[in-house]
Amino acid sequence: MLDWVQESTDYWVSGVYAIRRLHTDGAPKKFRFVIVSAPEDFRRLDHSHNCLSDAQRECASHANLKEVAAEAPPLSVKQQATIASIIAGGNGNDREGRTPYPSKGPVPQGLNRGTFPGQARSNDEVLHDYQKAVSEAPMRRIWFGEPEDIFRWRLQFDCGCIEERLGRTDDPHSLLTVSVKDWLTGRRLMPGEYLCAGRHEKLSIPLRTFASWNKYTRRFAEEEPEEAPDSWEQDEWDAIRCKESGWVHDWEATLSCGHEVAVRSQPLDWTPDRVRERLSDERLAKIRADFEAIGLDDYHQRLLEAGWPDLSAYRDCSSCPRVRKIVVYEPLGWLVPPPPKPRKPRKEKSPKERLEIRLKEAELEARRLRAELEKLEN
Ligand SMILES: [Zn+2]
Ligand SMILES: [Zn+2]
Repeated sequence: MLDWVQESTDYWVSGVYAIRRLHTDGAPKKFRFVIVSAPEDFRRLDHSHNCLSDAQRECASHANLKEVAAEAPPLSVKQQATIASIIAGGNGNDREGRTPYPSKGPVPQGLNRGTFPGQARSNDEVLHDYQKAVSEAPMRRIWFGEPEDIFRWRLQFDCGCIEERLGRTDDPHSLLTVSVKDWLTGRRLMPGEYLCAGRHEKLSIPLRTFASWNKYTRRFAEEEPEEAPDSWEQDEWDAIRCKESGWVHDWEATLSCGHEVAVRSQPLDWTPDRVRERLSDERLAKIRADFEAIGLDDYHQRLLEAGWPDLSAYRDCSSCPRVRKIVVYEPLGWLVPPPPKPRKPRKEKSPKERLEIRLKEAELEARRLRAELEKLEN
């Protein structure tokens, strides 16, 4: 069992786990207990318990599970390959019954179908790269599936860049529903958002507001050395350095643009309602004057425009200036094109059907001749 400490009236903690007691309006003796801080794979904000011991038991059983998983040896490449092939193989079960997306099928709203100049990479080349990537990390097969289930696209983004991408269906609507990972933040972007590999000047965007505060996790933060690491300025390091070991809460929030951000190392008693949105106009005027005297850079300009709010660094969304939308798509076909379906043998026509066809042809010819004659008579 875990050792629990009651840190405040309604808050019990044990390691990374924390349980909060919630009061019921109008019923002073009726409580619910929710697990509010725990590892990502376990947090259930909507799951409440009627008594403290139930909530604690659930945390303990999760801690036990984690321990068992942590002690298990890492999966070998062979084990990964086996698991990936079972899952990826299962995904391809409906390959036979796949109906191709019609070439004149509807074009998703906001997109255009087109053909780009220049040759796309060959299937052989892409397949070779895919197989190399999978041999290094077999689990990639789970995401992309078997080569037979990979569809290739060429996309033009709103920045003008044209890039090739892999998908799992030939339906262009999937281009707007797939959610790709932002390699910089490690988070998934919103469906239909992409990052291009091109180099562009950084867009200057207004600071965002916090749309919602989603959850937090308790973490034991170790005291960090006073001396700034190589890549840091001393004053910046002093501002963020953990000066005393202790428990902190790492919060997850969603910004007004829809992107998520991690606000780390907040004190345990900190709550989002403490976030100050604006300084007074007098303070803002004073700060502006001070900065203008030494030169106002883009970031501080935007900070002033936003009212110099709290947690401003987190409001400067790192995804927004890099996010692209698709403008034009070109379907390139399946990475491994399906074998052509055997053609149905033509049905022999009966003598009656043959005569009917000849009669129709003769009638058409007669009509054409009559029209020609009419033209000559006029
Ligand atoms: Zn671009
Ligand atoms: Zn954003």
